[in-house]
Amino acid sequence: MNIHVAEHLGLCFGVRDAIAKAEELAAQGPLTVLGELAHNPHVRERLFRVGIQEGSLSEIGHSTTSRVMVTAHGAAKKSMESWRQAGFDVLDGTCPLVRHAHRELSALVAAGCLPVIIGKHGHPEVVGLSDDHPLTVVVSSVEDLANICEHPHYGVIAQTTQPIAKVMEIVTELRRRHPLSEVTFRDTVCQPTKNRQTALAALLDTCDALVVVGGRGSNNTLELVAAGNFAGLVVHHVEHADELRSEWFVSAQEVGLTAGTSTLQQTIEEVHDRLRDIARQIQAHGVVS
Ligand code: SF4
Repeated sequence: MNIHVAEHLGLCFGVRDAIAKAEELAAQGPLTVLGELAHNPHVRERLFRVGIQEGSLSEIGHSTTSRVMVTAHGAAKKSMESWRQAGFDVLDGTCPLVRHAHRELSALVAAGCLPVIIGKHGHPEVVGLSDDHPLTVVVSSVEDLANICEHPHYGVIAQTTQPIAKVMEIVTELRRRHPLSEVTFRDTVCQPTKNRQTALAALLDTCDALVVVGGRGSNNTLELVAAGNFAGLVVHHVEHADELRSEWFVSAQEVGLTAGTSTLQQTIEEVHDRLRDIARQIQAHGVVS
């Protein structure tokens, strides 16, 4: 059994910097992070250990600390302003690439476009983007395009962690369905997400099984899982090394390894070590527990 590690995998700079900022702020006083800083149990445990509390974007009034931090996913400008007016010290951990998506969407709205976000309904990043622009339509699939009303000019952006191939398919279909309308698309899928998707695509032809490491609530991790499934690989999605079972790999020859953008390097290394152990043990003794 050979193990192929994706060229790009794991923690992105946006989540890494947000974790560092939260830890630095927590050292200065009590802090509540508004939502999951990363959709990953190891990251959350690490933050809880230094006393950081986790609050909710929708129930910020329940926060027991006056200092609150917006996650890398960002939040609507109007929400942040209302929290400040309510007396909270709002600290902004928004990823610069999410901020870029906010700027692009605002520019499209200012140009008179009907704002369209290709992304996951209810995801904090999508909620933050759309809350500043009440007419925004969120589209998660080609089928959702049936809900878009006629408009002379659509302004389209994407949630930063969407697969670019799916985004382009939706944009193309929007143009096909509304040939008399103008469709302006701003590609806001972030480069770390594209890198992880491209690196995974390079593995799909050579591998027969795939291990994806990341939180079960992590959108970009689930997209990596979906890409593996779509390519017909046997996909094992784990959050940590202890979940791996040797019997999963008895008939696997070429095993790919990738991880979502909120997965710590340490977790990836532990999974990689466990996979190497499993490969050695299967070669020596067959299946072991
Ligand atoms: S996935 Fe992309 S947009 Fe999201 S935090 Fe990471 S770098 Fe920023």
